[in-house]
Amino acid sequence: MRRCSCFILGYLLTGGIHGTGCLVPSQGEQNQPRPVVEKAMVTQAEPRRHAFTSLPTHDPDMHAARLPQVRQSTRLTASKQPRPRALTRDDVSVYLEEARVSLRALGIRRTASSRPPRGLHDDLRQAYQEHRAQHIHGTFRQVRQWMSLAKFGHEHPSSTSSRGPLVRYDLAVTTSEDHAWLHFIVPAQGLASATSLGNHYAQHHGKRWVALADHLRPGVDFYLFKRTNQPSLSRQWGEKNVIVTLAGLARDYQDRTSTLLGIGDISEVTGGKISDHWTHKRGVDADLYLLRFGDTDETLAPQKKYDEGPVCVWHTLKSGRSIWSTGEHGKKGIEVVPSTGGETLSARRLRVLATLVLQDDTIAYFVHNDPTVLKSFDQRAGERVPGRRFLHAENRAYWPPHRDHVHLRWDEGPLPVGTPPRP
Ligand SMILES: [Zn+2]
Repeated sequence: MRRCSCFILGYLLTGGIHGTGCLVPSQGEQNQPRPVVEKAMVTQAEPRRHAFTSLPTHDPDMHAARLPQVRQSTRLTASKQPRPRALTRDDVSVYLEEARVSLRALGIRRTASSRPPRGLHDDLRQAYQEHRAQHIHGTFRQVRQWMSLAKFGHEHPSSTSSRGPLVRYDLAVTTSEDHAWLHFIVPAQGLASATSLGNHYAQHHGKRWVALADHLRPGVDFYLFKRTNQPSLSRQWGEKNVIVTLAGLARDYQDRTSTLLGIGDISEVTGGKISDHWTHKRGVDADLYLLRFGDTDETLAPQKKYDEGPVCVWHTLKSGRSIWSTGEHGKKGIEVVPSTGGETLSARRLRVLATLVLQDDTIAYFVHNDPTVLKSFDQRAGERVPGRRFLHAENRAYWPPHRDHVHLRWDEGPLPVGTPPRP
């Protein structure tokens, strides 16, 4: 109930954005009448969680770049009502035609095909057999862009982007060596309701990938962040267990720190090479940021408001001593130890995150510069699973220094023991 009422308020505040994924109905629920949003539910929402919905975004172009809404047919409107009969072949044809019109309205001129590419997994193959699925075929780059437009309505979706025109369809991306397919599918039960999402996923090497934005509300449960370039929800696809674990981590981090975890790049929906990284190709890497939102904490000096959104904190190791600051190399906004003793704000937050990650043995590597916090975690991780590591400035081997963010890597197989892991 808590998350539910909060979702509704978040939805109203943001004009109906992402995060609806946590409410995606099961197949049987899909054509139930649209739930009535009651005023009472809105006022019950928990204050702390929506304090963040009004944070500024990093994307100044987001309003200008909104794409036109695609026309809604009377048939789509009718789908909000309980459906007394199964979908007919005609219904499906109309929905598929609607989807093609939407794609053209997005500027995607590729001709759709209803012939299934080879090597599809069972449920997608069945959708083609039942004439409920079509695809457009292109390069990785094109398919990334198409999926982003269809799902988010924007090529570089931010926390405040709207719903894309195909959001109520099932959308799937599959790939071969160097090209990819975007499949749009009419679910057997009909399109998702006007406030929820179809099933959106990618399938690579037998693994299901999903989008973080479908499991965690951007701007409410985490802060979309990237220090060097424009952050984008379309660069946050990963293996399903990675995304589910990450969603839990972000919620627990927020519960323990009363602040949002910054989450940057994971992977592109097609997988494969992604700009700004050597890794992040396999849906098993995530960049996390410890952010300062202009906190009023006694360990921060000088006090500062961050009018242009939060800033990430840098870690510098100087003569074995940790320095946390908002400027690189300990140049400005240096944190001080509280008068009561203990650790600075960001050291405490890093410890919170490391403590949460330690408990999940599917995360093989935690990489951040600070040995003063991470040394003891490195030992405990190895005791839990041989080869599990918390890598820092003194033991990072082949990993580049991570002074402004935490890198997490998931791995299922046996890990190298006694030899430093490679990125
Ligand atoms: Zn990374």
